[in-house]
Amino acid sequence: MATNDYESGLKMLEELTTDAQQIQDQLLGEILSKNAETEYLQGFLHGQTDKQLFKKNVPIVTYEHLKPYIDRIVNGEASSDLLLVEPLIGFSLSSGTSGGLPKLIPTTAESAHITATFNKLYRSLMIKHFGDINQASKRMELMFAKPDVETPSGLKASAVSTRAFKGSSFKAILPKLYTSPFETIFCPDTKQSMYCQILFGLIQRDEAVMIGSIFASTVVRSIKFLENNWKELCSNIKTGQISEWITDSGCRNAASLMLKPNLELADLIEDVCSCKSWEGIIRKLWPKTKYIGTVCTGAMLQYTAELEFYCGGLPLVSGFYACSEGAVGINLEPLCKPSDVSYTFLPNTVYYEFLSIKEDCVTDSQNQVQLNAMSHHEDTGPVDLVNVKLGQCYEVLVTSSMGLYRYRVGDIIKVTGFHNNTPQFQFVGRQNVALGVDMERTSEADILKAVAEAKALLDPLGLILTEYTSDGDTSSTPGHYVIFWEIKPKEGNNNNKNGKELDPKVMEQCCSKMEDSLHFTYRMYRKENMIAALEIRVVKQGTFESLMDYFVTKGASLSQYKTPICIKSKEALNILDSRVIAKFFSPRTPIQDN
Ligand code: AMP
Repeated sequence: MATNDYESGLKMLEELTTDAQQIQDQLLGEILSKNAETEYLQGFLHGQTDKQLFKKNVPIVTYEHLKPYIDRIVNGEASSDLLLVEPLIGFSLSSGTSGGLPKLIPTTAESAHITATFNKLYRSLMIKHFGDINQASKRMELMFAKPDVETPSGLKASAVSTRAFKGSSFKAILPKLYTSPFETIFCPDTKQSMYCQILFGLIQRDEAVMIGSIFASTVVRSIKFLENNWKELCSNIKTGQISEWITDSGCRNAASLMLKPNLELADLIEDVCSCKSWEGIIRKLWPKTKYIGTVCTGAMLQYTAELEFYCGGLPLVSGFYACSEGAVGINLEPLCKPSDVSYTFLPNTVYYEFLSIKEDCVTDSQNQVQLNAMSHHEDTGPVDLVNVKLGQCYEVLVTSSMGLYRYRVGDIIKVTGFHNNTPQFQFVGRQNVALGVDMERTSEADILKAVAEAKALLDPLGLILTEYTSDGDTSSTPGHYVIFWEIKPKEGNNNNKNGKELDPKVMEQCCSKMEDSLHFTYRMYRKENMIAALEIRVVKQGTFESLMDYFVTKGASLSQYKTPICIKSKEALNILDSRVIAKFFSPRTPIQDN
């Protein structure tokens, strides 16, 4: 990026954040006048485009409300008659909260344009803080493309990141600016892809100035992968031959072009990796690294301690907040600690509105805002971007050129400040999420359903599940779901009192049954080893009574006490863990949809 390009990026950021209200109003006006004749908007606005009428008549909706329209487009009806006039180039797969099923978000050429503008602004900021790292250097960014899904309309549904990897501009810069060859990013086998991306990262260690991936969990997983495979990687570097088990032809081709025998490098890496402690390993292996670029906020905050251990003081840069629905925030202070990160909304991406949350969010010892489970929306309507209040928590609504109108993204944010006239926010969390160990989200209803299906397997054994709760265990990588079960014999059958007498085969089936009944994203992540096998920990009888006693001492009302479906408190978790009598793991990956 030339100096004047980078300066113009920073200038543009100042202008956008100063003229936020005007830009937002103009954007809404354009979206409405373009799409006023669609079936959806016609029903509420009758061809008009007035902002006040929009606020009065167009309902606030979730994906479920729009799904019938999107399904019709997916099945081949013209999108221009239904939701939006601009032609679609495909759908984006959003990770979503509704049963964990990915949502299909209409995508247009305009969205690609918005992404390009965002990239320019983001790069300008990075140059301001780290210099132009693209000058004679590379990024070791771990990237994993997902296969597209063909829809009956002929349009493809892809992850936003995959679409970006396929873009011609990305392809053009990839060999010069990144250590991962194209073929390794698109290798359908995640393990082979990760092995090769690390291998190519190692052989280009002197060029890598940035290490990262979109989310922190992937960076941690890669380092663990390296911990388990460095001897083999070194042997490949020594001989210049890639391991036989790498069967993907694209990966093998890339290796045949780039991998040459290098005894000196292999010895050096072996020396570094064989040291007792892996503290600061990233810095030792990639000595020119200036920062780790990866999202460390929200669900990813749990990985920062491990990442800090590995990175030896390198800054962790959570550069942006983004979602498939089009909302975008940018971190103007990339060098601040992950727990202090605030993002600034970009007003030229989508039209934002904010629904306030009644109860205050609580800030914990790590400065992280915890969402109160009992939060409600206030009776007041949503407010515009520039009218949010400092310190207040909100749910984000977007109206976009992609056919989303007053759409609930499902994210809760807290306003932490303003840059010019534009609010900055801390990411608080997702609505209605109980468990999440990676980017998947599992609701209480999902857990309930999974347990209901699995516990039926206890019946023939004369056992009943009396109580259960769950925890997302991320103490090892990948993380996994732990379900605590208290089991008792049915009346008259006293044979199965404790864990030793439980049939391990049946208990393992219970684990698998639960996994089979969990949502699409969970099962996909399990298959790709981004989540480890689900575990049932059977606890002594009376454990859940002790748990209740604990919550009552903490102020819960006995008459209103309900066992939490997911445990968030460390002390409560200790109560459960200290009473575990048996542990069982799912022996296989869950059944996938066809
Ligand atoms: P997707 O729906 O798959 O596009 O994922 C977007 C979602 O990921 C957002 O709605 C957030 O819930 C989450 N997300 C994205 N960026 C961040 C971030 N910087 N910090 C925390 N969560 C994020």
